[in-house]
Amino acid sequence: MLELDQIDCSSLRITKQRQLILDELMSVKSHPTADELYQMVRKRLPKISLGTVYRNLEIMSDCGVIQKLDIGGTQKRFDANAETHYHVRCAKCGKVDDIDMPPDRSVEKEAGKLSKYTIIRHRLEFTGICPACK
Ligand SMILES: [Zn+2]
Ligand SMILES: [Zn+2]
Repeated sequence: MLELDQIDCSSLRITKQRQLILDELMSVKSHPTADELYQMVRKRLPKISLGTVYRNLEIMSDCGVIQKLDIGGTQKRFDANAETHYHVRCAKCGKVDDIDMPPDRSVEKEAGKLSKYTIIRHRLEFTGICPACK
């Protein structure tokens, strides 16, 4: 694997707990925070702790099973879609939506050329005002 030094992702097991967290995450398109996911998961696993949910989210995002979004200086959000795709965030309410447009691979080529890095992925975040806030 590439840059994953702390966790051995090849031995990452999708435990029942993890699967449940994953199921809940896949059931929404809202890019929930760890807190929001915890509230969802707790309905099905009342004994689970926020720490456990958080830790599992971190591990799964480090291993590329899900995606972690550090955007706009707000709380981290999580996305069941680990593929490169673009997001738009509402500057008023903080809502995050996907934008259904193909990622521009040419910027990765260009960035690789200029930096001499092997580019693995890129992120693009738009900021706007959502229809509900307009
Ligand atoms: Zn809004
Ligand atoms: Zn997304």
